[in-house]
Amino acid sequence: MAAGGAVKIENSRSMQLDTPIKYLQGVGPDRAELFESRGIATIEDLLYYMPLRYENRSNFKPVSELAPGETATVVGTVTATQLYRLGRSGMQIFEVRLKDREEQSVVCKWFRSAYLQSRFEQGQTVAAYGRIDYDKYSRQLSVLHPEFEILRRDDPESKLHLGRIVPIYKTFGKVTTRMLRGMMHRALAAVPDDDPIPESIRRRLGLPQRQAALQETHFPPADTDMRLLEARRTPGQFRLIFEEFFFLECGLALKRAKSRAAAGIAFELNDRAREKIKRILPFKPTGAQKRVLGEIAADMAAPTPMSRLLQGDVGSGKTIVAIEAAVIALENNYQVALMAPTEILATQHFLSVKKLLEPAGYVVAGLTGSRSAREKQKIKRLIGEGIAHVVVGTHAVISEDVEFKRLGLVVIDEQHRFGVLQRLELLRKGAHPDVLVMTATPIPRTLSLTFYGELDVSIIDELPPGRSPIVTRRGNIAQAAKVYDFVRKQVLAGRQAYIVYPLIDESETKTVKAAQKQFEHLSKDVFPELKLDLLHGRLPTGSKDEAMERFRLGETQILVSTTVVEVGVDVPNATVMVIEHAESFGLSQLHQLRGRVGRGAHRSYCILMTEKPTETARERIGTMTETQDGFRIAEADLQLRGPGEFFGTKQSGLPSFRVANLLRDRETLEAARNEAAAYVENPPSVEALAELVNYVRDKWQRRYGLIQVG
Ligand code: ADP
Ligand code: MG
Repeated sequence: MAAGGAVKIENSRSMQLDTPIKYLQGVGPDRAELFESRGIATIEDLLYYMPLRYENRSNFKPVSELAPGETATVVGTVTATQLYRLGRSGMQIFEVRLKDREEQSVVCKWFRSAYLQSRFEQGQTVAAYGRIDYDKYSRQLSVLHPEFEILRRDDPESKLHLGRIVPIYKTFGKVTTRMLRGMMHRALAAVPDDDPIPESIRRRLGLPQRQAALQETHFPPADTDMRLLEARRTPGQFRLIFEEFFFLECGLALKRAKSRAAAGIAFELNDRAREKIKRILPFKPTGAQKRVLGEIAADMAAPTPMSRLLQGDVGSGKTIVAIEAAVIALENNYQVALMAPTEILATQHFLSVKKLLEPAGYVVAGLTGSRSAREKQKIKRLIGEGIAHVVVGTHAVISEDVEFKRLGLVVIDEQHRFGVLQRLELLRKGAHPDVLVMTATPIPRTLSLTFYGELDVSIIDELPPGRSPIVTRRGNIAQAAKVYDFVRKQVLAGRQAYIVYPLIDESETKTVKAAQKQFEHLSKDVFPELKLDLLHGRLPTGSKDEAMERFRLGETQILVSTTVVEVGVDVPNATVMVIEHAESFGLSQLHQLRGRVGRGAHRSYCILMTEKPTETARERIGTMTETQDGFRIAEADLQLRGPGEFFGTKQSGLPSFRVANLLRDRETLEAARNEAAAYVENPPSVEALAELVNYVRDKWQRRYGLIQVG
């Protein structure tokens, strides 16, 4: 292409899918920038910019058949326009009167939109879309704030906008839906009739060709079922959604295949290890715990590196499973690293691992930020010399610069789902230890398979025996005195309680202050006879550990805290969780917090205190009182927040989809995943697989940040 100014390509056949958008007629360099800012850099990007909705203008009703209350498209000729002020309020109203073929009129009205005046003139043909109202005063039909399009008779593309089902796009800048329609029409000419989806799959699933799918998605044929169209379930739409998932899943499958091909450690699971595991277990494992340990052990025995996700609701007993896996590695003379997301959790894991593994003859080292530089040096030396067998610490500390003598297994307690994969890459740089990631985010299986990319998934779907449901109640702030009385009763019966405060105004400083103030109030005025402690993120690490330790030992009875107790803390004697300002917590967070109680034999309680909850906050709290099933709660959370926010797409590395929607299209995702896995595992030919690898690398790697596919 010529350097410098844009060359308009009039002959659309010379346009390719990867032709920059500026060469499309009607775009040009200035507008191209605007398109690029919306992620539309090429013709292909444009074509995958999907309609927001559709309007059936193929047989729109005449005005005489419109009923007030319905939402409809009216097409007519402008007979008059008028700008005036409304009575006392002086509000500006702009009106356009449209007359249809039958000489019947309807009035379009816009408030505070004087600028529209310059857009309309008599004689224009206009399509207006909105809710039809009957105006009592003027006794005529009107449409308030309709979306509109001015249709031009001399437009060679006029048939795109009228007399058919038309796509409506989300507009941006000065780009109108009408302009987009024209561009789509022109861009469609660039689609070659080949198809990136392997033919065998396309044929078996009855998917239309790419070209046909794009064509009918942007310009549906007249007989298309509008309901299917709106549900994104026409064959063409389905195919495009499938395509997006399919190549993502191919990328993931290729990554898995690659990591499986790497050389790992084949651990031996012999009787000695089995005997040892049995001896250290403080209780009888549940069926689910046994099953997942079996899955993990099989991975460990295989000569390729394990990448497994252990998913289980809060309190389902993941820690002990990790310790069992550790014993397998240890009995094979390898070292184990266990990483936790917070200091508190690292310390807790350190203590429980030590309690179980030290009597069995292993050396357990704790490596957290609270250690002095000299202590850290010493511990790192012990690790490097292979004297320390198990190292427990925070993510940051362990991934820093610790050199292991013979690292065989890494366990990552990933309560916060972010950045697992990155860390995994980091760890895998040199040797290839087995990796087990633990998460308490119970997301639906298909989603977790995609969300966690190339990890295999094991699920603990059973709680240890003897747990009674946590009694969950909501309370108004006005009932605080009653709630505190209840807390006192529990404490006097020998139990312990948490009282938790949310992050206020997004500011930790304010939160800490509020928690501090409340702590003083509670210790002086409410519970003067009891022992309370305060725990928040600003305390020095040592003090945090000490506060946690005092609570664990039962020296303090009530722990007043900000959300630092959210993750993994395990004090079975604690039976009351009071959450103040529960309206400002998300569902998953509430579920995590509630999971801090109900860990022992005593009946436990969770009290959600609110002050002026919003409608959605009420819904969240309602969900909490109705169920304790983490999967159902995650599901509700996903529905309430939408996938983007739920997964925290940006931090998580989960791709944002342009055609598909994780919630709406979950079944399609599952189908695409199965097809992709089968194809990668069993390609029709070496060439076909190479072609797929190339396609994924060229087209999808950049989008989805799939590092090193193939
Ligand atoms: P999480 O999955 O949330 O990390 P933990 O591993 O902390 O859960 O276990 C929660 C509690 O349940 C712990 O106190 C643990 O000792 C106990 N526990 C785990 N498995 C069993 C079991 N099979 N029988 C009885 N108690 C168990
Ligand atoms: Mg845990």
